Amino acid sequence: MTDATPITVAYGDGIGPEIMDATLNILAEAKAKLNIETIEVGEKVYTKGNSTGIPAEAWASLRRTKVLLKSPITTPQGGGYKSLNVTMRKTLGLYANIRPCVCYHPFVKTNHPKMDLVIVRENEEDLYAGIEYQHTPDAVHSIKLITRSGSERIARYAFEYAVKNGRKKVTCMSKDNIMKMADGTFHKIFDEVAKEYPQIEKDHFIIDIGTARIASAPEKFDVIVTENLYGDIISDVAADVSGSVGLAGSSNIGADFAMFEAIHGSAPDIAGKDMANPSGLLGGAIMMLVHIGQAEVATRVQNAWLATLEAGIHTGDIANETTKHKVGTEEFAKAVMARIGETPKSLKAANYKASSDSASAAKRALPAYNPTRTLVGMDAFVYSTSNDVNALAEKLKAVSGDALALQTISGKGLKLWPDYVPGMSLSDQYNCRFKATKGSLTHADLAALTARLAGAGIDFVKTENLYDFDGKPSYTLGQGE
Ligand code: NAD
Repeated sequence: MTDATPITVAYGDGIGPEIMDATLNILAEAKAKLNIETIEVGEKVYTKGNSTGIPAEAWASLRRTKVLLKSPITTPQGGGYKSLNVTMRKTLGLYANIRPCVCYHPFVKTNHPKMDLVIVRENEEDLYAGIEYQHTPDAVHSIKLITRSGSERIARYAFEYAVKNGRKKVTCMSKDNIMKMADGTFHKIFDEVAKEYPQIEKDHFIIDIGTARIASAPEKFDVIVTENLYGDIISDVAADVSGSVGLAGSSNIGADFAMFEAIHGSAPDIAGKDMANPSGLLGGAIMMLVHIGQAEVATRVQNAWLATLEAGIHTGDIANETTKHKVGTEEFAKAVMARIGETPKSLKAANYKASSDSASAAKRALPAYNPTRTLVGMDAFVYSTSNDVNALAEKLKAVSGDALALQTISGKGLKLWPDYVPGMSLSDQYNCRFKATKGSLTHADLAALTARLAGAGIDFVKTENLYDFDGKPSYTLGQGE
């Protein structure tokens, strides 16, 4: 097949091989043009001593095809095993995770028959970057990393997705009332990108009430774009509310690579029993067909699958009072294959359009942001087990020098000094803020300050430079400042 698209396929663990066979048989029946390279990743590779679960040959195939259809993988408990999914996402730069959550009422049980939303989750940044430090016995820092470029890329992806898929609204979810800088950047960039898509409605929810609304009124949402951790949580809430965790597929998209899968795991409890529902992986495969430009095949497969659900042919996990034939994995696949060419009668028929995903999004960019940065101070995090904040302040003032002056001492983001009130919440770390006495500072001023702190036996565990951007502080004040 000369016009076939090369793809890489991983059969995975547990129920993986059964649902992959079922999926590939359906794709073949629908005349998908695929040139399949098979790789081994997962449990067998882990137990051979490769802690990533991904051998060199698998990477080589992925670099050739750039598209992976993957069954779930069993992650061995304990040991030094890494999450294969996180490794793949980071190495292949899969910055967007797309999870449609749809109801198939009345053929699948749900309390929200009109739900039809898509979550676009940022996949590379946020607390998921896993940048953590412990400097003192009591306190651990986990850095929340949000970039303008990453926020722009995911917001643009969400709007492009909405345009290409005939969606009407994109909702941003963040917590910018509290994390005014990190989540504030995510929200602000979303608003800027939104201006380029006047035909798409946009709104914003604080993540806590947003999550509650997904659970209570999911039909109000269309496309939701959010940060990595929030996206992880709300995708599970949304999938559960749709009543069809076992039916949902997901895609992970980057500038050069893409990975498609089911959202469920390897279900070792039912592996090898011909009981697994292949629909989640089939959903991932349908997203893959759209991605590689075989939208017509994707439409045929989706409609045959919907017609199968309508015919009451269900695997055990979704069986209900509309079920006419409870079937196993193989028989379910055969039923879908027999319906290729049919369209559903009451469920909404699919009509996918060819899509080149992020390619068109990458062409545009917000104007470059090049603020004037002025170094105006330094925060020194000091380890101390004494609760005498006033005494610490006196010690620091004695070494602050001419260019810098001690401005505040905070603990856990709360301003403690000046005006220390005994009983304020303390840990074993104090954030001691030194500000320039006049104008701007040089790195040499900061180096001299840290040398004086060291000379005075003050145990500083980390420092942060303080900058003004275009004359405005680009750091937060302590609570109560
Ligand atoms: P799971 O999703 O595998 O199973 C949860 C429950 O749902 C089980 O009762 C299972 O039988 C059922 N189930 C799941 N998929 C089904 C299907 N297609 N048809 C019918 N029933 C289905 O979650 P788990 O038990 O927490 O995890 C098992 C393994 O999968 C773990 O090793 C975990 O690390 C791994 N996992 C992998 C991925 C992935 O590769 N993307 C995702 C999640 C979990």
